[in-house]
Amino acid sequence: MGAWFSVSDRSAIEENVFSTEGEDQLSDDSDVESTLYDVAIVGFGPTGNLLANLLARQGHKVCVVEQSTDIYDKPRAIALDNESQRVLQMCGFSEYLQGMTEPFAGVNFVGVDGGIIFSQDTEPKPYLLAWPTSVSFSQPELERHMYNKGIKRFTAPAPSDSEKTGSVKMFLGRRVLKLVEGSDTVKLEVEDVSDDPTFVFHDIISSSKLAAAGTPPKTMTTNCTSRRARTRIEAKFVVGADGGSKQSVVRRHLKIPYKSLNFDERWVVVDAKLKRQPSHPIPQRSHQYCFPERPTTFIIGPNGHLRWEIKVMRGESPEMFLDTTHGIDRICEILRVTWPDVEALELWRASCYRFHALVACRWTSHGGRIFLAGDAAHQTPPFLGQGLNSGLRDASHLAWRLSHVLRFLPKDSAFPATSRLLKSYEEERAPHVTRAVDIARSLGKIVGQTNYFLARIRDYVMRLSAWLFPPKPLKYPTIHSGCMYQGKPLAGDLFPQPWVLDQSGSTKKMDDCLPLQDRAVFVVVGTAPEHVGDWLSEESNAFLNSIDTQRIVVLPLQLNGNGSDIKGVAHPGVVTVAEVGNVLSGWMAKAGCKVALMRPDRCYCFGGANDAESLNSLVAELKLWYS
Ligand SMILES: Cc1cc2nc3c(=O)[nH]c(=O)nc-3n(C[C@H](O)[C@H](O)[C@H](O)COP(=O)(O)OP(=O)(O)OC[C@H]3O[C@@H](n4cnc5c(N)ncnc54)[C@H](O)[C@@H]3O)c2cc1C
Repeated sequence: MGAWFSVSDRSAIEENVFSTEGEDQLSDDSDVESTLYDVAIVGFGPTGNLLANLLARQGHKVCVVEQSTDIYDKPRAIALDNESQRVLQMCGFSEYLQGMTEPFAGVNFVGVDGGIIFSQDTEPKPYLLAWPTSVSFSQPELERHMYNKGIKRFTAPAPSDSEKTGSVKMFLGRRVLKLVEGSDTVKLEVEDVSDDPTFVFHDIISSSKLAAAGTPPKTMTTNCTSRRARTRIEAKFVVGADGGSKQSVVRRHLKIPYKSLNFDERWVVVDAKLKRQPSHPIPQRSHQYCFPERPTTFIIGPNGHLRWEIKVMRGESPEMFLDTTHGIDRICEILRVTWPDVEALELWRASCYRFHALVACRWTSHGGRIFLAGDAAHQTPPFLGQGLNSGLRDASHLAWRLSHVLRFLPKDSAFPATSRLLKSYEEERAPHVTRAVDIARSLGKIVGQTNYFLARIRDYVMRLSAWLFPPKPLKYPTIHSGCMYQGKPLAGDLFPQPWVLDQSGSTKKMDDCLPLQDRAVFVVVGTAPEHVGDWLSEESNAFLNSIDTQRIVVLPLQLNGNGSDIKGVAHPGVVTVAEVGNVLSGWMAKAGCKVALMRPDRCYCFGGANDAESLNSLVAELKLWYS
């Protein structure tokens, strides 16, 4: 059958992972890169890719060190949430989202008796963030698009007269070996591994290697003994977006263990495409088959992509599924239970994953110049579809903080360890992602129940609760700590993105109307011109201008017409649009607010205000984050 199957061992904290031998010394014979980068990113998975895109757009000098020579081409993440879509919109990838993704229709949970025990719908229109809550997509396709249409724009040498143009230097086929954090910079030692086939596909071990080795290798190793070329790179900040488990050299360098949320199961993931119409109807929704004898997840991806996730039961081993002679029969037998016409499928790939629920105990180095992001900082069972989304959230929340610190913050001797903005990255992201991982873990336990008696009780409870409290679309938790005006209205809320009518009468998403669409800066969003104008004191205005804040007035529905009404109330330096619908005005009105500060990640609210005084105190609070 060829190598369509594989094993990926994403093990938990390994023994003796924090060996310190020689870690603080860089080799003397390395070539030295002359450029001092603003940020060096280790790892070019989706997290590193988005981070590089965002930072380059803010005008920073970025380098990416990735041990593989190409983007990993196998499907993994299949669900993209509305926050990720909004951040991708900011990077100019709306076209991809509109053309290459499909909204999810919801999910049915099927119980022991084969009947539906719970049905989860997705958010109906109008969408809070102007994007569907969740869409299906292909991870390699998205990563490639972000590289071709994003990063490549910044890989050409910047014109020398334009200091503001960001740049990205790609070190592909280079593996980071060591890091040394100094008071002003971090030095990285990287090794050329471009001739090493191990790094073509970074986390997949083919079945033939598996058979030859007898047992799956535990870590990526190379047999090459001759010393490879080494380069020394220096950057003001380093982000370890170098993947999960044993993989992250950055996490190991920082000696940061994971905290386990008690989930450790093996599941076989099968990806297939439709060869022809099956002899039975195709389910319109994804399904969680909560069968104690074989818990299985079925997900409908884009363009005929179908995915099954099959729990490996006690007494079974991954090899039983991936074995060249009988593995495929075993998988087909399992698929037939819910998809009788397996002959209509073209099996694309099967892979065994070890699903964990892990969150790094710390996300930042003590010196404050090295950060973890993405799978390096957390790993989740896939039941909430949040692994990659959480990584993209890390990237967008870290990108603007780094950018603002580099551009706007005074640097004293204790910088950056004392920077409140940078500290808030971990304060905000760690509890937020922990809640998400915990929800995914609970879902995994519900779906994966293998005890018949307990499974029947589960079915009864879920049916009863669905009858008593008709289920609402699942909402991702909001943030409760970090960069916001704690305790004030709207602080930490998802910031709605309404559809609006612009000056020319075109209907657009609000963020697309901002003058600097891709700038990660704060935005004052008011519902009348005075909210973003007269209400702001001179002092507030001066501070907001110093951090490049944008302003937009979104007039409520009754004022709008064909666009000409908007021109009448236009203010210099302020974009004025009219809301189509009441997603934003309803959100503000419910909290008694008239104006709110949107954070540079475009997804969260710093706080809302209902008069000049509360608005100026909001700005005064924001100023404290920059002192
Ligand atoms: C079966 C499955 C289903 C999933 N479904 C979903 C889903 O529906 N939704 C979702 O949001 N997520 C999902 N995920 C999770 C998602 O795929 C991952 O969370 C995501 O790929 C993590 O991205 P990352 O950039 O943080 O890490 P990675 O993608 O692991 O990238 C890390 C990169 O760092 C490189 N690297 C490592 N060490 C070094 C070094 N020393 N030097 C240089 N480079 C290095 C690696 O080569 C790699 O390219 C799923 C995962 C699996 C396995």
